[in-house]
Amino acid sequence: MAIAPEAIHAIATSVPGVINCHDIASRGVLGRQVFIEMHLIVDAPDVETAHHITEEVESRLEERFRPVRILIHVEPPAYKSEQISFETGAK
Ligand SMILES: [Zn+2]
Repeated sequence: MAIAPEAIHAIATSVPGVINCHDIASRGVLGRQVFIEMHLIVDAPDVETAHHITEEVESRLEERFRPVRILIHVEPPAYKSEQISFETGAK
């Protein structure tokens, strides 16, 4: 872990439309190149809105941790009962 998952979680959930996130993973060296992956649960009526929310999450993470590459797996609110987890691995 290059970045504490709690820090990524706090930034992601500060974005309007984000319900929660889980399966947060990061690797690399902070300040040089970091890779972040996460599952993001968004409250969005369509794909376009979900995309805007995702871009805002990316932009806030970039502001804080750049240079960074981010991979976000978007999930609908129906998944919000899923266990919140910082663990990586199987869904
Ligand atoms: Zn998930």
